[in-house]
Amino acid sequence: MTAVPDLSGDLASADDATLAAVLDHAELPPMLAALAAALGDPSFTPDQLRPDLSTLLDPTFGLSEEQQAQGRELALAGLQRLRDQGGPNLDARHVDDLEPLLDFLSGGRPVHDYLELLREELALGEDLRAPDWHKDEVAPDRPFRVAVIGAGMSGLVAAHRLKQAGLDVVVLEKNDDVGGTWLENSYPGCRVDVSNLFYSYSFAQRADWPEHFSSQPVLLDYFRSVADGHGLRALIRFGTEVTSATFDEGSAAWRLHLRTADGDEVLEVHAVISAVGQLNRPNVPPIPGAERFLGPAFHSARWDHSVDLAGKRVVVIGTGASAAQLIPVIAAKVAELTVLQRTPAWFIPAPSYTEPIGPELLWLRRNVPGYTHWSRFWVFWRTVEGMLPLATVDPDWDGGERSVSAANDMMREMLTGHLAGEFDGYPELLDQVVPGYPPFSKRFILDDGAWARTLKQDHVHLVGDAITEITAEGVRTDDGRLHEADVLIYGTGFKASEFLMPMQMTGRDGVDLHDRWGGDARAYLGITLPGFPNLFLLYGPNTNIVVNGSITYFSECEVHYVVGCLRGLLAEGLGAIDPKPEVHDAYNERIDAENLRMAWGVSTVNSWYKNATGRTAQNWPFSLLEYWQQTRRPDLDDYERLPAGTSTGAR
Ligand SMILES: Cc1cc2nc3c(=O)[nH]c(=O)nc-3n(C[C@H](O)[C@H](O)[C@H](O)COP(=O)(O)OP(=O)(O)OC[C@H]3O[C@@H](n4cnc5c(N)ncnc54)[C@H](O)[C@@H]3O)c2cc1C
Repeated sequence: MTAVPDLSGDLASADDATLAAVLDHAELPPMLAALAAALGDPSFTPDQLRPDLSTLLDPTFGLSEEQQAQGRELALAGLQRLRDQGGPNLDARHVDDLEPLLDFLSGGRPVHDYLELLREELALGEDLRAPDWHKDEVAPDRPFRVAVIGAGMSGLVAAHRLKQAGLDVVVLEKNDDVGGTWLENSYPGCRVDVSNLFYSYSFAQRADWPEHFSSQPVLLDYFRSVADGHGLRALIRFGTEVTSATFDEGSAAWRLHLRTADGDEVLEVHAVISAVGQLNRPNVPPIPGAERFLGPAFHSARWDHSVDLAGKRVVVIGTGASAAQLIPVIAAKVAELTVLQRTPAWFIPAPSYTEPIGPELLWLRRNVPGYTHWSRFWVFWRTVEGMLPLATVDPDWDGGERSVSAANDMMREMLTGHLAGEFDGYPELLDQVVPGYPPFSKRFILDDGAWARTLKQDHVHLVGDAITEITAEGVRTDDGRLHEADVLIYGTGFKASEFLMPMQMTGRDGVDLHDRWGGDARAYLGITLPGFPNLFLLYGPNTNIVVNGSITYFSECEVHYVVGCLRGLLAEGLGAIDPKPEVHDAYNERIDAENLRMAWGVSTVNSWYKNATGRTAQNWPFSLLEYWQQTRRPDLDDYERLPAGTSTGAR
């Protein structure tokens, strides 16, 4: 019997048996990279232990049992050395040559261009993304106030960076707390679908995430603690909704109209950062008769916790990401559950999806220098950047609506095999759950087996017929059946294409933003728009990702860019900057062309990534590296420079 390791101490006090026992719970590739970095010794990343990333869903990364044993032995030697010599040889912050280590983890893909990004992402004790300037040095006497609209994940990172740069910042938030998505979505089962190592700020990484994919309360606590820990709450005006904003060219200032509990108000600022999210306004489809339903009816993002579902007949409309999370949880308590599915999702195996992180792994993350950070990069590389080729269309591939390339087809086979295993013995259900469109046309849903376990239960009914009406008693489908319900739950997503709604934004020459967009939102880098000077968008058009990556990465890149723009503007004594239409248009042409080379762009399946015009307005089609490169240093020549106005300051 293996002895239970004593995890009460740290690395210095751990005996060999403890080290050997905890290593059974480590992911070897990032562990070896972390040890090589900490010890300044590349022999911990030998060629024969390189992970094979083409194996995709294989948790051993193609390493044979013998190789894994060798890897663990090597890692044990590394941990012993670290312990015996009393810590790392190298100050982990000054790892000069990351390239061989990165190359070791890369699965053979070229890594050189990633080095600087890796340095930032690893953020080993040093916040390399902090602004390298301060307003006091650049424009000490100039009043310059920035309003951030929204205190969700994006608004908080904006407030933090602007504060670091010494700017006068006010955050306007309609809710009474921070967190946005993670405050509003309190439905049962709500959690993130990318490892929290990556779904977290580079400047606020945690070694002690309690779950691999944290649940909503854990995430809300995280964002609250970032707001508290970085002194951001004092900058936020809660219960304050921005209803409209107008740019005044004479004063180069924005006038915001605010709705507060104490009445309406006007606030004048020099720049506006919209951080209102893509998924903040619930979408409740206009189904005929909806108002006739007699029982409680609510959207997943407006969960009515006063309704007890125990013993009730419940109908859930939709099987998207939120619905797929809540359905397995509520199934356990309801009497009857009818699930109305328009389009099945691809489910990808993730055995640890709802599991807590075990004490051994937590110990390793807390005690092995750099291990958490290298694991963060490992997630980034393996599950996000590494997946992109599988979503890319091969023009010579004739896969119809089935697949877009040989690699995509292989993915399809693998995922279909997974579903076939899960629904073994339930052929009718299997027919209903296998998607007819290529993988990567929609975001994957992570699956620890709960979906199949739920749908196989006798009191759960998966219905694929189209909804025709809602009556007082339930929902009718086009086969004439009435699905009776005591409670109706809309798992129908968000008005994702309606960027910045319902705010009214008026730019130069009185142009209305929503008229300009005409339902087809676009922006330069997803951030700036011609005719709307000093308006910056976070999580704006074409900054979402399909592969299960992290929006925090994008928001950090966007904020870095915006802070750089503001520095340039202040340094040059400008009033405002307005992107040149030709720069904006050329950028968008490139985005559109590339989105049409991706599974989500060519597939005809319904998805929230496409707006009413059929254009993919949500997604970024290139690599994460490319977004980082493009947002690293703003080029003010991309902008028309507007002179400083006559306004003296914000009111
Ligand atoms: C259920 C769910 C699960 C998700 N899972 C993932 C995931 O696994 N990985 C991932 O990367 N992303 C995920 N997302 C996307 C998620 O929205 C982003 O990751 C991130 O939380 C967006 O942060 P944000 O600050 O940009 O927007 P939000 O979190 O939407 O915050 C916007 C804030 O702006 C405020 N606001 C809006 N309009 C106004 C106004 N006019 N005036 C004042 N305040 C206003 C809102 O009240 C809100 O606080 C998920 C989204 C949902 C809904």
